[in-house]
Amino acid sequence: MADLIKDIDIIEEQEAAQCETVKVSEDDDTGRGRKLYIESYGCQMNFSDSEIVSSIMKDHGFDTTSNVDNADVIFINTCSIREKAEVTVRNRLNHFQGVKKRKPDTTIGVLGCMAERLKSKLLEEEKIVDLVAGPDAYRDLPNLVQQVDEGHKAVNTFLSREETYADISPVRLDSNGVTAFISIMRGCDNMCSFCVVPFTRGRERSRDPHSIVAEAKELLNKGFREVTLLGQNVDSYKWSPNAALKGKAQIEKAGEDNVVNFAHLLEMVAKVSPQLRIRFSTSHPKDITDEVLHTMKKYNNICKYIHLPAQSGNSRVLELMNRTYDREWYLERVESIRRILGQECGISSDMIAGFCSETEEEHLDTLTLMDEVKYDFSYMFFYSERPGTLAAKKFPDDIPLEIKKRRLNEIIDKQRAHSLERNQLDVGKTHEVLIEGYSKRSDDFLQGRNSANKVIIFPKSKYKKGQFVNVYVEDCTAATLSGYAVES
Ligand code: SF4
Repeated sequence: MADLIKDIDIIEEQEAAQCETVKVSEDDDTGRGRKLYIESYGCQMNFSDSEIVSSIMKDHGFDTTSNVDNADVIFINTCSIREKAEVTVRNRLNHFQGVKKRKPDTTIGVLGCMAERLKSKLLEEEKIVDLVAGPDAYRDLPNLVQQVDEGHKAVNTFLSREETYADISPVRLDSNGVTAFISIMRGCDNMCSFCVVPFTRGRERSRDPHSIVAEAKELLNKGFREVTLLGQNVDSYKWSPNAALKGKAQIEKAGEDNVVNFAHLLEMVAKVSPQLRIRFSTSHPKDITDEVLHTMKKYNNICKYIHLPAQSGNSRVLELMNRTYDREWYLERVESIRRILGQECGISSDMIAGFCSETEEEHLDTLTLMDEVKYDFSYMFFYSERPGTLAAKKFPDDIPLEIKKRRLNEIIDKQRAHSLERNQLDVGKTHEVLIEGYSKRSDDFLQGRNSANKVIIFPKSKYKKGQFVNVYVEDCTAATLSGYAVES
């Protein structure tokens, strides 16, 4: 068993998680003619968007292909959260030069956050690019492709206050047929000073809850057994039947009665079926309420796991980051999670090392915050200045790279120790696991996750993908639990 759960290198996993994880469209040949190839980078929101793009293009006569050489249209859905993410995209565009040489009439389009950040400038910088479309312009893609067919370059980076693609049924890409994402809102009204998202995804708007429940029911009927509700800040989800009210601020100002907030939405989706697990990401410490925590407690099928990015453990740095909470507020939220959902509830975070003017003492505050919380997992990076952000305009990026890296390594070492410590608490216990497929290392073993979002590996025996099974955990590493199935 031990060789199956070699310790995954957390740093490698971090970088890969953010900048290089790529999802590619699948072969879906109806013989109807033009072929679309999509490559998606970045966060779950982007992967979910590529499924919406596939659906829109499918409705306009395109089949998807996993082979770039068979494509008539190539879309690369991009991330802009770190400089490295954009470098990855430019390298791919270079790679597509060969494809374009072999098939000159291939259309190459750049979608997503990098497209929105650079807009038509991308056409000047990357001559191979024919089409640029921002995250709110995907309904216009068939029209933009036609413009390119007619010999023009095409750009649409308009950011909307309404668009949620609520009526579009996503085409599941690279799917295991068991778990799926449901985007519940778009954009972000927070203005964290290091972040490009408010500029690349626009103002916050929440999707009609009934369309979300309908999508969950559709997935359940297709055999999916887990959905993850997606938003940049799910805790500020707010929807009003009064379509005239655009966005959270207007709804709150109007003092509407029958407003659906995130706790209400969670309950609506949880009621779809006890056989459908619910997860959600990403939470915000400023907005997560006890009402949400009590709703999680009330329903077994709402997974007991919260991704609660802290970013830093020091209140002065949090203020410079414009995170709108301080260390004490954050720790009080964690204390509420522990009080209402117990020690078993999984908590993960995002951490930034070496933010502008961060002192050594303030860095230590991040390490001591991690000691207080004991996260199960974290996404950890050193600060990467992003053009156009508040921080880039207001604060010098003054922490030397080697100090950023040293601080990041200290955070990663701390996290690795805590991940192991938290996983050791799960040894000797039985966990309900939703089987997602074979383990990465052997088809004799299956893998899935427990409610706290931990990966568990166990011998296959009579079980198969999509089933819930109880697994007795007898061993662990910092990244994985392992055991064997037990009858319930
Ligand atoms: S909450 Fe902050 S970090 Fe997250 S997407 Fe919004 S602005 Fe960016």
